[in-house]
Amino acid sequence: MKRPTGRVVIVGGGVAGLRVAEALRGHGFSGELLGIGAEEHAPYPRPPLSKAALHKPGGVEVLTNSATDVRWSFGTAAVDLDLAGPSVTLDDGRLIESDAVVIATGVRARTLPGTASALSLRTVEDAERVRAVLAGAPGHLVIIGAGFIGSEVAVAARVRNWEVTVVDAQTTPLAAALGPAVAQWLWEQHRARGVHIRFSQPVRSADKVGTRWHVSLDNGAVLEADAVITGLGAKPNTEWLGMSGLDVSDGVLTDARRRAVTADGTVAGNIMAIGDVARTPSPLTGGRAIRWEHWTAAVADARRAATVLVGLEPPPELPTVFWTDVYQDRIQVLGLPRGTESEPEPGPRGFCVRYDSAGILSGAVAVNWPQRLAVLQREITRAGVAT
Ligand SMILES: Cc1cc2nc3c(=O)[nH]c(=O)nc-3n(C[C@H](O)[C@H](O)[C@H](O)COP(=O)(O)OP(=O)(O)OC[C@H]3O[C@@H](n4cnc5c(N)ncnc54)[C@H](O)[C@@H]3O)c2cc1C
Repeated sequence: MKRPTGRVVIVGGGVAGLRVAEALRGHGFSGELLGIGAEEHAPYPRPPLSKAALHKPGGVEVLTNSATDVRWSFGTAAVDLDLAGPSVTLDDGRLIESDAVVIATGVRARTLPGTASALSLRTVEDAERVRAVLAGAPGHLVIIGAGFIGSEVAVAARVRNWEVTVVDAQTTPLAAALGPAVAQWLWEQHRARGVHIRFSQPVRSADKVGTRWHVSLDNGAVLEADAVITGLGAKPNTEWLGMSGLDVSDGVLTDARRRAVTADGTVAGNIMAIGDVARTPSPLTGGRAIRWEHWTAAVADARRAATVLVGLEPPPELPTVFWTDVYQDRIQVLGLPRGTESEPEPGPRGFCVRYDSAGILSGAVAVNWPQRLAVLQREITRAGVAT
């Protein structure tokens, strides 16, 4: 790959876009850095949107930014990418030629057909809408989709005395992300606080009739609610890449160095893809590409892509840790909780479950026990799961 010395265009003003700019400057890149962000705001953290921001107004501040001399255009979206050049076309008609492009356009919330007026949670504006509803007179909230966001919204609603029902088609939602043991433990925390759990029950439709919602389940039951929020996972923001020739079958496919790959399998020279929008091969999946969709992975991707862009050898790929909060407890996940599940190991304030594949540690999930996870992170690295 030809090392860029002129202009690098970063598309996406989230944490991945911001941190790649910082890392490029940190590695001494002295060319021009242009950032394009569809949202009106400077990059802000999304994890608080389903936590602190639901409890008090204005609970989210912009991210600290140490990258000097980056020209950001916020409120501007990229609408096309031409790999030759490469060049990016913006929605205001500008065509920007560059030496390299970093794709960091993230994902957006998936919705259920017919539920356009239901709440969802991806942006700071979404969080303010949810907070305002929960701050009103408590009623019945139906949460469609029992993912991390559904679980964290259930916490915020119960704390404000809302009656909460969580509906999901799966039997143990979050088992793939947290492992079966901790997923079951998490839903028990909700049950213990009075959350109604309706699992193995797909939603057929959700309709607003006057001010009330009617949520119909496949088994014929109808739930009446004052508010509905969908937490049905996310869709990569790749529509603007539709004509680019990149493989965008589920996010932007990359190689291990975060270089984008075309639909015919060629690595596209100076095009990188990072963060939630990227589908990257992982040592933890035997090289199969997956989308991680979590904070530390987006930051690690950004650092990795920057080293590759400036022509340095990227650091070893270490399994990242992500977290979710349930009431007063914090769950942290290292690597992938797949394979043989251990018995929970009790800790001083929580417990830890480890996962082994072919006798090698591949993941671990800890409840209120970050110290144990740090030890296991060293073990997983020594075990050679990392590249
Ligand atoms: C409510 C919520 C809670 C979360 N909680 C946690 C948590 O507790 N722990 C954890 O590890 N992770 C959590 N996450 C996930 C974490 O926030 C993401 O992994 C991270 O924000 C990904 O960063 P990103 O920069 O890749 O994408 P994003 O943050 O999505 O940023 C992408 C940006 O690109 C912009 N964009 C899109 N299309 C275009 C275009 N065509 N042109 C220009 N700009 C464009 C978008 O508007 C957006 O501003 C949470 C996410 C949400 C939504």
